[in-house]
Amino acid sequence: MIRIAIANQKGGVGKTTTAINLATALAATGWRTLLIDLDPQGNASTGLGIATTSRDVTTYDILAGESSVVDAAQPTRIPRLDIIPATVDLSGSEVELVSVEDRTHRLDRALDDVPAGQWDICLIDCPPSLGLLTLNALTAANSLLVPLQCEFFALEGLSQLLQTVERIRARFNPDLAILGVALTMFDRRNRLTDQVSADVRECLGPVVFDSVIPRNVRLSEAPSHGLPALVYDHRCSGSVAYIALAREVIARLPSLRQAA
Ligand code: ADP
Ligand code: MG
Repeated sequence: MIRIAIANQKGGVGKTTTAINLATALAATGWRTLLIDLDPQGNASTGLGIATTSRDVTTYDILAGESSVVDAAQPTRIPRLDIIPATVDLSGSEVELVSVEDRTHRLDRALDDVPAGQWDICLIDCPPSLGLLTLNALTAANSLLVPLQCEFFALEGLSQLLQTVERIRARFNPDLAILGVALTMFDRRNRLTDQVSADVRECLGPVVFDSVIPRNVRLSEAPSHGLPALVYDHRCSGSVAYIALAREVIARLPSLRQAA
C-alpha cells in the first residue's frame, strides 16, 4: 500500500481540503483508498460527513494500540473511500506517547499489519504542527505531499519541514520521498500570488506540481455539506484543479509503487 502524508506545520494552508479531494479523485479512478485523519480537529472526518457520534473507533485508538487499522476504518459515502476518523481525544496522544519507547512508529507498525490488497493507497491528513502526530505520519509514509499557500510567507517554515524530513530519513525512514509541493489558494486577481508562485517554482523547481489550486468558495462550502468539493460541485474551478492534481500525483506514483 502506498502511503502519502499530507503535511505542513502551518494551519489553514489547504492540507485537509487537499486530502479530502485527492482521496476522492483517487477513489474515483478506481484506487481503494484509505484516508487517515491525524488531526485532533477532525476536519477531514467532518468534511466527509462522519458525524462525531459515528467516531467510536478513531486514530487515537490506533496510536494507543487499542485497535487495528482494519477495524478502525469505516466507509464514507464515496465508493472505494474509507476513513479512520479523529476526535479531540487525539490531542491526548501527543502527551501520552511521550514516554512510550516506539512513540514515532505507532502508525507505521499499525499500517504494517494491514493485509496486502486491502487498500491500494493511504493518505494521512496531518495536524498543523511538527509534533509527535506528524512524526508518526512521516515515519509511516513512503512520501510527502506539501500544500503551500500562495501568500507572501509561503516558503517560511518550509525549511523547518524539510529539516524534519531529513531527520526522519536519517533516523527512521530512509526512503521517505517528497512526492510534490502543491500551490493552493491561488488568486488570479492578486498579482502577489502570481509572484509568490513564480518565486516558489524558481526556488523549489520541478517538485512543485504544475496544477495550481485556485481560491474557490465552493471548496470552502463543501465541508459543511459533509461532501468533498469533487462531489458537491465537480465542475467548480477547485474541483477541476484537484482532478488535474490527482492526475499528476498518479503519474508520479509508479516509482512509489515499487518501493511500497
Ligand atoms: P489545513 O488543513 O491546512 O488547516 P484547510 O484545508 O482546512 O487547511 O483549509 C483552511 C480553510 O480554507 C478551510 O476553511 C477551507 O475550507 C478553506 N480552503 C482551503 N482551500 C481553499 C481554496 N483553494 N479556496 C478557498 N478556500 C479554501
Ligand atoms: Mg487540516
